[in-house]
Amino acid sequence: MSSTGKINVQTENIFPIIKKFLYSDNEIFLRELVSNAVDATKKLKALASLGEATGDLGDFKIEVELDKSAKTLTIKDKGIGMTKEEVEKYIAQIAFSGAEEFVNKYKDKVDKNVVIGHFGLGFYSAFMVAKKVEIYSLSYKPGSKAVRWECDGSPEYQIEEIDEQNQRGTNIVLHIADDCEEYLESFKIEGLLTKYCKFLPVEIKFGTKKDRIKPELKEGEKPEDVKDIEVEVDNIINNPCPAWTKKPSELSDEDYKSFYHELYPMQFEEPLFHIHLNVDFPFNLTGILYFPKLSNKLELPKDRIQLYSNQVFVTDNVENIVPDFLTLLRGVLDSPDIPLNVSRSYLQADGNVKKISSHITKKVADKLEELFKKERADFEKKWDDIKIFVQYGMISDEKFYERAAKFALLKTTDNKFYTFDEFENLVKPIQTDKDNKLIYLYANNVQEQHVYIDAAKSRGYEVLLMETMLDPHYINHMESKLKDMSFVRVDADTIDKIIKKDETTISKITEDQQKQLQPIIEGAVSKDQFSVVFENLSEKDSPMLITRPEFMRRMKDMNQMGGGSMSFYGNMPDMYNLVVNSNHPLMTKILDETDNEKQNLYAKQAADLALLSQGLLKGESLTNFIKRSVELI
Ligand code: ADP
Ligand code: MG
Repeated sequence: MSSTGKINVQTENIFPIIKKFLYSDNEIFLRELVSNAVDATKKLKALASLGEATGDLGDFKIEVELDKSAKTLTIKDKGIGMTKEEVEKYIAQIAFSGAEEFVNKYKDKVDKNVVIGHFGLGFYSAFMVAKKVEIYSLSYKPGSKAVRWECDGSPEYQIEEIDEQNQRGTNIVLHIADDCEEYLESFKIEGLLTKYCKFLPVEIKFGTKKDRIKPELKEGEKPEDVKDIEVEVDNIINNPCPAWTKKPSELSDEDYKSFYHELYPMQFEEPLFHIHLNVDFPFNLTGILYFPKLSNKLELPKDRIQLYSNQVFVTDNVENIVPDFLTLLRGVLDSPDIPLNVSRSYLQADGNVKKISSHITKKVADKLEELFKKERADFEKKWDDIKIFVQYGMISDEKFYERAAKFALLKTTDNKFYTFDEFENLVKPIQTDKDNKLIYLYANNVQEQHVYIDAAKSRGYEVLLMETMLDPHYINHMESKLKDMSFVRVDADTIDKIIKKDETTISKITEDQQKQLQPIIEGAVSKDQFSVVFENLSEKDSPMLITRPEFMRRMKDMNQMGGGSMSFYGNMPDMYNLVVNSNHPLMTKILDETDNEKQNLYAKQAADLALLSQGLLKGESLTNFIKRSVELI
């Protein structure tokens, strides 16, 4: 009955190549073999539903078994099974030629990482970790004889019909190679099953585990009277019906949340909201994306979007499939239409992948818009957490910009929110300069810029909060998009100069008096750092104020963020304006003073106060200021 056959090979010794080629990634063999078991089970279920497989089919549980002493790992399914002819055809001919083609194509690739997923190698990936592989199989077809196939990695195999097996399905027995004994460790196999098979659609059992349950209650017993008992139960690795395979209408908010934690067991924060994807034309895509609450701590690199193909885990590197600005989202995508055997650079050019990527962008925009329209208060509450996605998306993706420009929010230092349109309509009448330009005043540090914010607010202006790393880029981007507007930081100038109105205030001192004051005040600060300018502010404003022109500051900031071409500005010393309020009573006091020393003292004290309020008074100057102040009191 037993016979030998030769695998039809062009490449002699293909197994060493398979083994070496994928060495770094050899763990995927388990995914391949378990997915074959799942496929075989699904086929049988399909046949049963067509009435082509009849009788009691029993349960379909797939079992993975380790035998440490025999050094074997076995994958058992109760699926469709194979006859002798089918083994010869599907395993020895078709599967092999597939594997051979695959290896020929990629063996010269220097960078192994360019190949994502290794579907296509299929069954033969077993030889990456096994020195010998046996197949025991019994076809579902009535009257079939069981078959045993064995191959030790040479192109020759043995095949025979056997009588021992009477359970329908296939057992794949791997005799683990000496240098791969890690795959005989239970924790290793369980880890791999959890990684690759966690959501496969057929139950997968790996050994047993202890569980505590309540025993059945006898008459008169209350649940709290009886103790839990320990029982041995199957250790089921997977959830065969994960949330993303269900219809949104079947799922509650709680279901979505608990799936999030199932996906990321180490994540304790709740997600902000989710998007359920479900497309079947022109490409197939299901999945659930979550907007996470991003903490400032470094995120666990594990908690990334996971890519599946028919519920088989492929990768958690979704670069090029998901637009860049959404890679910080979490969740799962499942699409059999993403080519998995190609390099990442090729992925980018793939038509389906492009469509999938823009579909995801559209869905994210839809969801955000819906939240904005229907639950504005909630949207505002979540804004701090989602603004990074929205802003990054607006900067990097034109299509997304067009959608998001309608719901992107501007937050003020008083926790008020405006869209750009609302800002235009509500704030424009007040906050424009004499050229009818709308000024978006902003602060990036409420504490440090308090004086300026206060001055702006006293004139009824709104000050926006722009305090993240991304905000400066966002500001530049929005200025390039919108017309008749600009962003100016509150401390860029005195508020009435930032937003210049027509009416000019009258100066209380004459031009001559100003000339008299000029050298006295200039003597109070370093000439390299400050230029003295006079302005007719209100009596109630401070006598002196430090400002820093918007243009200068932006150049400096850009330079610090690494805009190399701007190094000219970056190397310039920090220049500030020392604005002198000519209408403040102190100026008249200095002018009226006859004692030169006292004049200098007043100027110095006022200038130091202005510096102090900006945290610019340091070291010896600060010590001197304190001494002087003590003397004055
Ligand atoms: P693929 O799964 O992509 O078809 P594989 O190399 O993984 O390629 O498998 C080759 C073929 O061998 C399968 O198409 C199937 O016909 C057969 N096969 C593999 N494993 C099993 C199994 N457990 N039960 C039944 N048939 C199997
Ligand atoms: Mg396969």
